[in-house]
Amino acid sequence: MTTAPPETGDWSGGWLRTAQQVLSPNANDRPAGAVVDLIVLHSISLPPGQYGGPEVEWLFTNRLDWSTHPYFEQIRGLEVSAHFFVRRDGQVVQFVDADRRAWHAGVSCWRGRERCNDDSIGIELEGLEGQTFEDAQYRALADLCRQLADRYPITHIAGHEHIAPGRKLDPGSGFDWARLQRGLAWDHRCFPECVIATFDPDASTA
Ligand SMILES: [Zn+2]
Repeated sequence: MTTAPPETGDWSGGWLRTAQQVLSPNANDRPAGAVVDLIVLHSISLPPGQYGGPEVEWLFTNRLDWSTHPYFEQIRGLEVSAHFFVRRDGQVVQFVDADRRAWHAGVSCWRGRERCNDDSIGIELEGLEGQTFEDAQYRALADLCRQLADRYPITHIAGHEHIAPGRKLDPGSGFDWARLQRGLAWDHRCFPECVIATFDPDASTA
């Protein structure tokens, strides 16, 4: 008699065991042969600048009542998702199987390839463009990036602002790329050239 090997480690298929699961319908299959080598960082809060509520989960699961806030009226009908959402306290929520395509990048281009949703992982940090992020978020994000690199051949990390310049501004100037790079100790070539200048060369050679 043969039995399937038990699934071990951090992952069960494309689902991270340690994350809270909230299933989003805003996803579909990646194109055949897609090589998932990019992590895209975003920031989001709903209403903008208000943290801790359920509205982001509601948006990604098409349950947001657009009539309850003037800002929601501006995004009425939006059908979007991300694979992961990192709350201010570091809690990680997963909305989409990482083997599938989440709808977070829109029109985009990075490392010479367009349609970044096809072959990237989208991570939303609870926050606001231009504002800073919490210690717990940097720790959770670094853990998540390492877990992703265990399962996928990740070679690049970029912000939405880098893959969709002129159209998107997140995660914004309050995000400390050098801190993420130090936390991961990944090669500076994984990061956008425009943020590498912020890295401390002494800290990044370890
Ligand atoms: Zn974004």
